[in-house]
This record gives sequence, C-alpha cells and structure tokens, in this order.
Amino acid sequence: MSQFDYDLFVIGAGSGGVRAARMSAGLGARVAVAEARYLGGTCVNVGCVPKKLFSYGAHFTENFHDAASFGWDVSHSPLDWPRLRDNKTREIERLNGIYGNILGSAGVALINGHARFIDGHTVDVNGKTYTAERILIAVGGWPYIPDVPGREHAISSNELFYLDKLPEHATVVGGGYIATEFAGILNGLGVQVTQIYRRSLFLRGFDEEVRGHLAEEMRHRGVELRFNENVSAIEKTAEGFRLQLDSGDSLDTGLVLYATGRKPLIDDLGLENTAVALDDKGFIAVSDSFQTAEPSVYALGDVIGGMELTPVALAEGMNLARRLYGGVDQPVDYEYIPTAIFCQPNIGTVGYSEEQAREKFGEISVFTSQFRHLKHTLTDNPSKVFLKLIVDKASDRVVGVHMLGDEAGEVIQGFAVAIKAGATKAMFDTTIGIHPTVAEEFVTLREATR
Ligand code: FAD
Repeated sequence: MSQFDYDLFVIGAGSGGVRAARMSAGLGARVAVAEARYLGGTCVNVGCVPKKLFSYGAHFTENFHDAASFGWDVSHSPLDWPRLRDNKTREIERLNGIYGNILGSAGVALINGHARFIDGHTVDVNGKTYTAERILIAVGGWPYIPDVPGREHAISSNELFYLDKLPEHATVVGGGYIATEFAGILNGLGVQVTQIYRRSLFLRGFDEEVRGHLAEEMRHRGVELRFNENVSAIEKTAEGFRLQLDSGDSLDTGLVLYATGRKPLIDDLGLENTAVALDDKGFIAVSDSFQTAEPSVYALGDVIGGMELTPVALAEGMNLARRLYGGVDQPVDYEYIPTAIFCQPNIGTVGYSEEQAREKFGEISVFTSQFRHLKHTLTDNPSKVFLKLIVDKASDRVVGVHMLGDEAGEVIQGFAVAIKAGATKAMFDTTIGIHPTVAEEFVTLREATR
C-alpha cells in the first residue's frame, strides 16, 4: 500500500487537468482533482465555448443583411441580449455536469475548493490535507488589466460573458486574439466598437499581410480601429465612461473591456513551500516532460506559457499521463499547431507566417489570392477572402497556410493534417479541388506572388 492518499493529485479541473486526471486514472493511477471555481476551466466557462457561441450570434447581422439579395426579406428587431446570454449559460451548465460525470466515471475523486501546497507531496483544500506521490499544477491563467488610473471601471473577458445589458458603444483595449475577437463579436451584436491598441497593427505573431487584410475587413464592418494609441485614464461619467488617450484625445464609451493578456494563476498556491521555480516571464518553469524544479511536482497548460490553447493543454495532459503511467516517453510536438481567430471574418492558420518563414528557411515562395466569395457576387457586401501559401523553396514543402474568410478554422483544420504530414507544393498542385468552394483556391495557386 502506498504511503500517499493518491498517486496523482491534480490542481485545476480545466482543459489540461481534466485530461491528465482522466487518462491517468484510465491507466490505473489513483487520482484526485481539486477545483476552486468551475469544472471545465477557462475554455468551457469563460473562454473558447461561450465565446464561439457569441461569435455565432454575431454573424447573424451580416446574414440578415445579405439575405435580401437572395430574395429573403428579413426584418429583424434588435438583439435580445439576455436571451443569448442565458441560453449560453444554460449550455455551459450542461457542460459543467458532463465534466463532473466524465471525472466520476473515470474513478477520479473530485474535491471542491482552492488547493494550496504544504510541501512537494501535500496540499491543503478547505483545511483538509491530502498527500500524493505526484502533484500536477494545471491552474491556468487569469486576465491581466494594467495599472491605469480608473482601472476599476474596466472589465475583463470574464465579466463580458455575464453583462446585464449591452452598451451602445464599447471600447476594447488590446491587440491580441481575444481583444480582436470581442471587438468583432460586440460589433456583430449591434454595439458600436472602438478597438485601441498601442502598437501599429494588432495580432502580433500572425502573418502581417493577413493582419492588414483583417483590419480592412473590420473597418468595412464598422469597427473603429485605433492603433498606436493607448488609454492613460478612465473616468466615470453620468452616461458611462470617458477615456483619456495618450494622443490627447478623449473618448466617451459605455463599456471598457481590457483584453491585454493573461497571467498564470499562482498567487495563492503556496509555491513558496516547494522548490517550484518560475521562468523569466513568471510562468512555471518545466522540463520537456513537464517536471518542475520540485521533482514530485509537474505543471502544464496555460500556467507554463507556450501557446495557451485548449488543444495544446489537452495534448500536454495526455502526454504526461502516458509518460507517468503508460510507459510512453515522447515529447509533445509543438510545430505546425493550427489555430483560428473567431473574428469577423475568421482567420485560420497553420505553420509559419511569411516573416517567420523567411527567417527560418531563407528562400521561400509566397502564393496569395484575394477574391470575392461567390456568395457575395449577389450581395453588396464588399468582404473579400484572402488565402496565402508559403513554400520552402529548398524542399518544396508547404510551411504556412493562412486564410481570412468564413469558416477559416474549419478549412485550415484539414490542411493542418497535410502540412503535418509534410505535404509539398507539388502535392497541393496535383490535388483536385472541390468546386465551387473557397478552399479549392488553395490547390490552384500556380503563380507565385513573391
Ligand atoms: P484552465 O482551463 O484555465 O483551468 C484551470 C482551472 O484551475 C480552472 O478551472 C481554475 O478554477 C482552477 N484553479 C486555479 N487555481 C486553483 C487552485 N489553487 N485550486 C483549485 N483549482 C484551481 N483556446 C482555444 O484553443 N481556442 C479558443 O477559441 C480559445 N478562446 C479563448 C477565449 C478566451 C476569452 C480565453 C480567456 C481563453 C481562450 N482560449 C482558447 C484559451 C483556453 O481557454 C486555455 O488555453 C485553456 O483553458 C487552458 O487550459 P488549462 O488547463 O491550462 O487551464
């Protein structure tokens, strides 16, 4: 009989923690999970899932508009926000229940409460101590709002999901994917939106040409983008809020949403009672096998930095379980991870941006195409699709696929398999398209743009 209560004690029932717990239990380990807030973590409760549901809601504005050109006269009243919000919340509650069942049927003990380290083998939850041979930190992150005067008037994405009512005008501060998605979502839901970002163009790290085209598309849809701008103070007014900007301008708004990054959620975790160390950005430092500086303690998901995506946390959780209890010793492969931004229109991307590919491969060919979607030939919608392939000249391998257009995430997921398998441009060229689709253009790009 082991000297410990459990083989593995997981802190956090989010994407990574649930996957690691469930798989470890399936491989024979005695596992417990402590969860302080909500089953399913960020993704299920205040992340991917509710955001995607709101994004579906936001697309209707455009569909209502386009419908007239197809012979449908649709008159629509303003959005019933409480109905959308509450339907979303009901679905989240259903998912919370499913997560509970998944853990229960896998034989994982669920402990409700905030876990804190006593030492490298012991945690405290609600005054009760639990010991384990190994402890996994899968606590995720929390929105970070910088210390601007009047910061208490700003909300984060967490609160946006539960607003009492939508304002007439909202300001989104930030230039990452979460800020950009919410700017599009609020705009689609009928709110006038200004997005403020301190650098010259949002979505740093994504392909620059794609970012530029997205900015045009968002402006067409009525989002006011203010780059090279920042908020210096937020004041409460009778009607809402007044933002003082670095440029000297001021802006009146009904809601101030800060999406300016997330920090690991480690403040009250008792890490000082262990040897766990942080990296220079404040994330938990781990080896390739997710082991921290305290040998019995592991960490994965958003709390270790990296790509901060649910499928990445899932892959890490699965990898750790197989390593610890399945005898499989293989690192997670972080190259060619596809991702989507659910802005309007969507961005889907896998592999390297043009800028990154030039640096990594040197000689590259770039193929691009921008065109009107067949659907919009009947409408007055000026929206254009933009597609881009990046090819390493030496190997002919396609090393980047980027799309700005409807359902780009759905399209790019399929291409990601080909890219991971090492598809060359010659293979793209001999693949027959599906006509008439937008994605067929990816296999008919013959002349390099650069
Ligand atoms: P989390 O899912 O955050 O889970 C951590 C859990 O630990 C939480 O439930 C928390 O309550 C719990 N916890 C924390 N401290 C303790 C403690 N001391 N004791 C007990 N429990 C504790 N990713 C995508 O792939 N696609 C998307 O479209 C996408 N959209 C997003 C939109 C938004 C607005 C946000 C904020 C994130 C989005 N993400 C998306 C990112 C994704 O949600 C995260 O990458 C993912 O949830 C990380 O999983 P995790 O297991 O590391 O942590």
